Amino acid sequence: MDTDKRIAIIGAGPAGLMAAQTLAERGFGVDVYDAMPSMGRKFLMAGKSGLNITHGEDADSFLLRYMSPDDRLTGMVRTFGSRDVIAWMEDLCIGTLTGPTGRVFPSMMKASPLLRAWLYLLQEKGVRLFTRHRWTGWTPEGALSFRTPEGDRLISTAATVFAMGGGSWKRLGSDGAWAPILSERGAFITPFKPSNCGFDIAWSNRMMEEFDGAPVKNIRMSTYTEDGNVVSRAEFVITKRGVESGGIYMLSSALRAQLEDQGTATLNIDLLPDISHADLAARLHRSRGKQSRSNFLRKVTGLTRVKMALLHEFTPREVMDDTYALAAAIKSLPLFLTGTAPLDQAISTAGGVDWAALDDNLMLTALPGCFCAGEMIDWDAPTGGYLITACLATGRAAGMGVANWLSQN
Ligand SMILES: Cc1cc2nc3c(=O)[nH]c(=O)nc-3n(C[C@H](O)[C@H](O)[C@H](O)COP(=O)(O)OP(=O)(O)OC[C@H]3O[C@@H](n4cnc5c(N)ncnc54)[C@H](O)[C@@H]3O)c2cc1C
Repeated sequence: MDTDKRIAIIGAGPAGLMAAQTLAERGFGVDVYDAMPSMGRKFLMAGKSGLNITHGEDADSFLLRYMSPDDRLTGMVRTFGSRDVIAWMEDLCIGTLTGPTGRVFPSMMKASPLLRAWLYLLQEKGVRLFTRHRWTGWTPEGALSFRTPEGDRLISTAATVFAMGGGSWKRLGSDGAWAPILSERGAFITPFKPSNCGFDIAWSNRMMEEFDGAPVKNIRMSTYTEDGNVVSRAEFVITKRGVESGGIYMLSSALRAQLEDQGTATLNIDLLPDISHADLAARLHRSRGKQSRSNFLRKVTGLTRVKMALLHEFTPREVMDDTYALAAAIKSLPLFLTGTAPLDQAISTAGGVDWAALDDNLMLTALPGCFCAGEMIDWDAPTGGYLITACLATGRAAGMGVANWLSQN
């Protein structure tokens, strides 16, 4: 049994590493354990096509992006928000650049220089890093139990921060296997749900065969929530099982809520967002002469092949024959979604450790000395830098929580 009592951080993603930094800066002895052969694999994957680490919009708009059953999340993001993320990166000598829509990236776009600088800083501060250490639970005496290539290792700690991520992209390490272990010890866990994910549509064979992988560009997507309509102007991609891509992710929590309530969800597409309904109806009202209906429609509207296919897929014949109804269908074509893509393919996970299971230090009330951070906790946000910002903010809050708790115990 290893008896020197340091603080264990389990999970070396952005949440765990920020908890480690927060504690090391306060002089605590910290060890970080990760199940994988290297640290921060999902963080590196997030940086593959540009690490969108935060967003430059004003603080109030920023906070509105978070969906959490508990105000404590937004409190933590208010305390450590986008400006703090940028300042933290600058301390690591990583410059930032802000894209035209306000998304903030490291200037080199990728996550690897940032992760390298971060791990270096942590080691300089005395943090010890252990890979290939899979946490599997506790011994009856209360020591943490890890499976390693050399066999099981038992470690007793002064406190533990769990930052093991959600349940998607298992191959990067976060497999959600922690949920039943914590649940057995009395921590209430809300079931995992896919977020920032694709959705299923019962396409016709023609759509699947001819349009799998086709992007649908220059559209406006919308769906409804209890608080009104949510809108995305980004494109989406048709897949064999349905629809996918960043534009859909923006709407994923609203669509998922409809699926949960009604078993189906409706995604409305304006196929020609730059043409008004009146203008479109006037164009459709022109004489078609000897042209086929499809040729006429394509010429007067400029609809692309994939948009024409979508229109035909979801529009009954009688609507196609009615000028005003057809204009309305083009401006608001309902796509009926039948389910979400599997959790493992989702960018992030909603659900997880219930806020009711955590005190204000992010400590599990059922497990004194055990704290939680990051995507493990039950909150949701769209892509756009909001996910990593909240992981960093909760990692910092958990680190401060440990420091508070140790000072009182
Ligand atoms: C393809 C992709 C692109 C993304 N792009 C962005 C983006 O641009 N911007 C953004 O904000 N977010 C993005 N995200 C989401 C973001 O990466 C995650 O929200 C974030 O990494 C979660 O951080 P975390 O620290 O909570 O958990 P994770 O990063 O998942 O880290 C958890 C760690 O815990 C370890 N672990 C799990 N179980 C155990 C165990 N039993 N024992 C020991 N270790 C364990 C895992 O190996 C893992 O390293 C993206 C995600 C994906 C998949």
